[in-house]
Amino acid sequence: MDAEVRKRFGEGRAASYIDALANVPLDRFGMALVTRDGTVHEVGDSREGFSIQSISKVHTVTMALDAIGDALWERVDREPSGDPFNSLIQLEYEKGIPRNPFMNAGALVVADVLLSAHERPEQVLLEFMRARSGSTDVGGDEVVARSERESGFRNIATANFIRSFGNIHNDVDAVLDFYFLQCSLKMDCVQLARSMQFLACGGYCGMSGKQVVSAQMSTRINSLMMTAGTYDAAGDFAYYVGLPAKSGVGGGIVAVVPHVMSLCVWYPGLDGKGNSQLGKYALHRFTQLTGLSVF
Ligand code: GLU
Repeated sequence: MDAEVRKRFGEGRAASYIDALANVPLDRFGMALVTRDGTVHEVGDSREGFSIQSISKVHTVTMALDAIGDALWERVDREPSGDPFNSLIQLEYEKGIPRNPFMNAGALVVADVLLSAHERPEQVLLEFMRARSGSTDVGGDEVVARSERESGFRNIATANFIRSFGNIHNDVDAVLDFYFLQCSLKMDCVQLARSMQFLACGGYCGMSGKQVVSAQMSTRINSLMMTAGTYDAAGDFAYYVGLPAKSGVGGGIVAVVPHVMSLCVWYPGLDGKGNSQLGKYALHRFTQLTGLSVF
């Protein structure tokens, strides 16, 4: 992204907790959208892979809902948190029940559900991502996964804390390995926009010709993104963008215009809440210019 534009709108800072994210240059910017019929429109670095990080939480919660349905809500709540994504604070007084599936705590419980539901959960995750994105080459980045583990003291603490309340049933290390793998997946804007298309099509994935979840469930996943998908800035996001969206600290944000299209924007500089600085602005301009906010 042009230095002038960055200066004008604020360039943010790349996530710094691991080198693989800290070293991504801030001159990158890409955006892609996929309409209901599968047509792709894209601009900039839309074919450059980046670390999808927390965007993967949309896919894993979809898989968990598919595996155990509404029973998931006995183990994870559906409320926005107002606290940072990696906060542990609510876990103590809510007895190990995370506030929502998009906080790290919630995603760890979701990972645990997938470990119980599948014999080879990692393989099932990769197959899910490949089928949704229509790309057989989607995979984890080993360097990122390893650094996530080496620097993941808070996630390790969170998983153990939840385990102490009995809300993680599998080996804590296995749950963490799965979580670090999902964070390390590398995809580009086109692949990610495609992977979200089922949420713009009532649960039907045009890439694989499969009904992934029911129309009602896809509406509900969109509502989770609206209320909790953009960290503790979900209110601000609803106000300025008005679309269900999920961001990740790799600088990606996916968004859905229900019944119309799915989108992904990528710019690696983050704002103070962990959302892509220019990605957020691009989506704001998108709904402003098209009038496609859900409101
Ligand atoms: N790997 C990051 C963590 O678990 C993911 C954070 C994010 O993208 O929200 O801390």
